[in-house]
Amino acid sequence: MQMLIGGKHVDAKSKRTFDNVNPFNGEIVCTVPSGNSEDFEEAARIAKAAQPVWAGTPFYKRADIIRRFIGLVRENLEKIAKVVTAEGGKTITDARGELECLCMVFESFIEAARHLYGNTVPLNAEARTEGDIIFTVREPIGVFAAITPFNFPIELYAHKVAPVLITGNAVIIKPASDTPCAALMLTELLLEAGVPGGIAQVITGSGREVGAWLAETNNVDGVSFTGSTKVGIELMRGGAHNLQHVFLELGGNDPHVFFEDCDMDLAVAEAIGGRCYNAGQTCCANKRFIVQNSIKKEFIERLIEAAKNYKIGDPSDPETAMGCLVSVKAAEAVMDEIQSVIDQGGKLLYGGKRNGAFVDPTIIEVTKENDVAKDLEIFGPVFPIIGFDTFEEAVEIANQTSYGLASAVMTNDINKAMKFATAVQAGTCVINGSGNYRSVHQPFGGYKHSGIGREGTSHTLYEVTQEKTIAIRNSLK
Ligand code: NAP
Repeated sequence: MQMLIGGKHVDAKSKRTFDNVNPFNGEIVCTVPSGNSEDFEEAARIAKAAQPVWAGTPFYKRADIIRRFIGLVRENLEKIAKVVTAEGGKTITDARGELECLCMVFESFIEAARHLYGNTVPLNAEARTEGDIIFTVREPIGVFAAITPFNFPIELYAHKVAPVLITGNAVIIKPASDTPCAALMLTELLLEAGVPGGIAQVITGSGREVGAWLAETNNVDGVSFTGSTKVGIELMRGGAHNLQHVFLELGGNDPHVFFEDCDMDLAVAEAIGGRCYNAGQTCCANKRFIVQNSIKKEFIERLIEAAKNYKIGDPSDPETAMGCLVSVKAAEAVMDEIQSVIDQGGKLLYGGKRNGAFVDPTIIEVTKENDVAKDLEIFGPVFPIIGFDTFEEAVEIANQTSYGLASAVMTNDINKAMKFATAVQAGTCVINGSGNYRSVHQPFGGYKHSGIGREGTSHTLYEVTQEKTIAIRNSLK
């Protein structure tokens, strides 16, 4: 496959490429260009020139084009889903679900943007503005770079590209090197639907090179990034030179608290379903299992049973509940982290084995001093179990992390649940479900080191536009 720059399929100027490998069977899925700053800058210059024309295209025409794109995605859904499964190891069922989600996200942003109203300042509010009419309109920011991680190559593409395009911005998409194909296929459909070639472009290549280029270029006005906290901090630092609008959706080590009065069947189902979804590679997954000591033994026994029965296998089989990780390298990294948890005194209760890119659901009992009980985010199906006695202790463990993306609490006492929800330092708190939860409309994002800004139809449109005040002087005198 080739990059999409200025509406054309192009190789990197250096002619360098890299392979994308199917983590399940080791086959090469595609070969893509390894772009560098020369390629990226060309895309940005083209975007800069094209964006004002797109911003001047009436809203209803932009909406028609995007609606056509949604239709094309539906026509090609099965083809794209198969590529998503091949390039990332995501189960085919989840890949299809992500594409359905993309259609909903694009539709929802068209509707939300139709109601992106400005404001009117109360008339005659001060002596010096008497007789003036003061109101606001929202305008695009310009050229956005949208950088996505490997774990949700479709859904996160949608959450970035839909709001940026519908409001008249241009976008340069940089997909993760582990999963570049889906973004290329989707962007081809955007162009086929009628989005101009300078408005939606895809660059491929090393994230490090993209970051270094973003820290230099004056042709990018905004960066929408989802990925690790380390890279988010670098992008914020790099963007300072051009005062880029930098929005960050970052990592999490989310607490899932189980009080003794919870429904045990539901607790175990939500624990395993939330953690094993996408083979444990979800930012807002439940990653620390904080269990009241009085029910800990039963919870662990039931969780081990559930893990034994979890259907793991070929990601392209619709019966498979959990596929493999994104690469053998990622699976090896998870194994190293499991070992470090054990080295710090963690007691391995179940799992702890790797086969190629597969890692078994792994249950480890740890104390609250273990790194995994604080800031060690493991991107795999690992269940660190941490016991507690009192409500206060549960809150203390939940908050003893520099992350704050999502959280969850299981209890049949709504007052206790609400007390926890208001005490926990996180962008979301789910009651009686896992924190692995995202509605298209909710403000999704993190406290502390889990990010800056919020995504969702209730928020992103404000982040990718700027508000202009227009004052008509003396018109009421
Ligand atoms: P990552 O290493 O930060 O990579 C994410 C993206 O950033 C990739 O496209 C990567 O490109 C690119 N990148 C890497 N280094 C860069 C740099 N110096 N400058 C600019 N871009 C750079 O993250 P990951 O490990 O793949 O993804 C997992 C992390 O993302 C976890 O911490 C997870 O919690 C977080 N996440 C957060 C959310 C959320 O909504 N809050 C959602 C999903 C994931 P290459 O692939 O070429 O390196």
